[in-house]
Amino acid sequence: MNSEAQEGGCQCGAVRYRTSERPKRVLACHCTGCKRRTGAAYGVGVYFAENDVVITGDPMQTYEVRSDESGRWIRSEFCASCGTTVTWTLELRPGLRAIAGGTYDNPDWFVIQAHIWTRSARGDMRYPDHVDVFEKALPPA
Ligand SMILES: [Zn+2]
Ligand SMILES: [Zn+2]
Repeated sequence: MNSEAQEGGCQCGAVRYRTSERPKRVLACHCTGCKRRTGAAYGVGVYFAENDVVITGDPMQTYEVRSDESGRWIRSEFCASCGTTVTWTLELRPGLRAIAGGTYDNPDWFVIQAHIWTRSARGDMRYPDHVDVFEKALPPA
């Protein structure tokens, strides 16, 4: 049943997780918050139903930020030892939990479906042909 089960964790290994089933969605986000959180050109969120994520190891610290666009909170959870943001939840998407895509042991197992908030993307960013690209948030389904 769990052919989709995948594992990952923080840089130091104090926090580990296991996800099962297929992600609900996989988004690359170019917003300024994701840039700062990751230190990278964009953040990758692999979104699951909360019950499909099992987190083990040390308790994480949390950091809550409000979107300056929507005013809603985004709550990041990060390893208290190494600082890696492993997961987050959003006021906007109750019942879903995002895993930071780069923390998977195999960070190549999922397919990015869409790039969002590309209005703040780097000028040298190029997008693959098969992905949807949105200037701002994902439009309502
Ligand atoms: Zn760690
Ligand atoms: Zn973002």
